[in-house]
Amino acid sequence: MKLVFLGPPGAGKGTQAAHICAKLDIPHISTGDMLRSAISKGTPTGLKAKSYVESGGLVPDEVLIEMVRERLSESDCAKGYLLDGFPRTVHQSEALKEICPPDRVINVFVSDEKLLARLTGRRVCTACEGTFHISMLSNAEICPSCGGKLIQRKDDTPQTITNRLNVYHTQTAPLIDFYTAEGTLRTVDGDKPEDEVTREILIALGSQDDLH
Ligand code: ADP
Ligand code: ZN
Repeated sequence: MKLVFLGPPGAGKGTQAAHICAKLDIPHISTGDMLRSAISKGTPTGLKAKSYVESGGLVPDEVLIEMVRERLSESDCAKGYLLDGFPRTVHQSEALKEICPPDRVINVFVSDEKLLARLTGRRVCTACEGTFHISMLSNAEICPSCGGKLIQRKDDTPQTITNRLNVYHTQTAPLIDFYTAEGTLRTVDGDKPEDEVTREILIALGSQDDLH
């Protein structure tokens, strides 16, 4: 199955993607994770992307389209894919339509108010890459699942978060119309508890028999 997860920053796309990929046995392709890894390794893509990622802006379309085109040509994508964080612009969605169009697009909806609270309190583990909210932690610096060190992502500061939400509304939200017109969009309520959101997504995927 070929899937795209659409939704604002902080909607829980990454967490849900991990559940769904395990269940469907398809690769989880997070362009945010790929870019952060490229930046920390100092690859040519990382060097091009760094300033955009750190300010909360979008990395130029050409860079992302090439990166995703290459990733989707790898052998594990023969089973399908779950794209998390791509496409983020109409131009990117048109490119994906040429490369390998998705069967289903899941739009994870969460209000801006909730997103702000989630993002400012988000901590990530430097060892296992798990994501946690400070409200759930007894120690804000230690990973509850592996004991690794927790940090705040560089782009999770209030100024950058506001910028990312604006970018989402102006550049990415128009994809809701794009995929509604394609007939592939399904919206789920990302405000619900984690396991209920997973269930809603599986229902949205299973209710169709034209998937492969
Ligand atoms: P979030 O969804 O929490 O904002 P991501 O990890 O998906 O975070 O992305 C982090 C940053 O990486 C974005 O703010 C942007 O700078 C860059 N990025 C990721 N995917 C794309 C994309 N498809 N197009 C342009 N920039 C991207
Ligand atoms: Zn950890």
